[in-house]
Amino acid sequence: MLDKQPYIGRFAPSPTGPLHLGSLYTALAGFLQARSRHGLWLLRIDDLDSPRNIKGSAENILKTLDVFGLHWDGSVVYQSQHLDVYDEILDKLAKNYLIYPCTCSRKTLAGIYSGLCRDKQLPRNSLYSLRIKTDERIISFQDDLQGLVSHNLSGQHGDFILKRKDRVIAYQFAVVVDDNRQGVNHVVRGFDLLDSTPRQIYLQQTLGFATPGYMHVPVIIDEKGYKLSKQTCATAVDLKAPHIVLFALLVLLKQNPPSELQQAPAAEILNWATDHWDPTPLKNSCAISPIC
Ligand code: GLU
Ligand code: ZN
Repeated sequence: MLDKQPYIGRFAPSPTGPLHLGSLYTALAGFLQARSRHGLWLLRIDDLDSPRNIKGSAENILKTLDVFGLHWDGSVVYQSQHLDVYDEILDKLAKNYLIYPCTCSRKTLAGIYSGLCRDKQLPRNSLYSLRIKTDERIISFQDDLQGLVSHNLSGQHGDFILKRKDRVIAYQFAVVVDDNRQGVNHVVRGFDLLDSTPRQIYLQQTLGFATPGYMHVPVIIDEKGYKLSKQTCATAVDLKAPHIVLFALLVLLKQNPPSELQQAPAAEILNWATDHWDPTPLKNSCAISPIC
């Protein structure tokens, strides 16, 4: 059967600092995947983890994507602007006895959560997180690049948190709710999130949402083998010469860009890359070390 459903992808950075080479690498892969399929590429700012947000970085991210010619479709969605949506779904889950409050402290918990609070009476006025009950089911999916991934949910993850003690909606839950609200049917993101995907698929199954396709691209690592991240102080990408950075990123995406393209303006580089996009050389690769 012909798949007539239009492709809807997205980029969902957290506003915890400026985009670095690693985040731009993921953005570019997602952009090229969407554009080469004549699909939509949405932009969502995952700004729920307010203690980690850094003022001004959402604006900075938008500006950077714009300078690089990575234009998104529609208006930007900010997770913090629809907090009621998450709580409504949590209420439904609570009515079906699928979530429960947990008062355990992080210090007393090591490893996989055993479900200790499942049947406990909640002490009054105590701080608690909300956990979802998991079972022994095996969640499997076929990643476009990483192949078959299978996890035993309770064995490998246990009952996981949907809402934290500090009332912040947990990433695993928020991402599932928003991808569904936005009609996202293909997720391109970094390999570091591969381990999260079975939990997200479990949530989709529990909530009656469709499961998108997944492509986990390698993460960029530094000389010491650490993932580039805001925490390791990876520097922000240089906005003065986007075409040079784009060309380098295409090399890191193993797209073999012709050397003439090196002098071309950003828009032309992106057109070439969209026409020639082929992610298969990235198969089974979880990390890439920059040569530039
Ligand atoms: N907001 C997440 C991050 O910046 C990514 C969300 C996702 O792609 O699922 O790491
Ligand atoms: Zn507990």
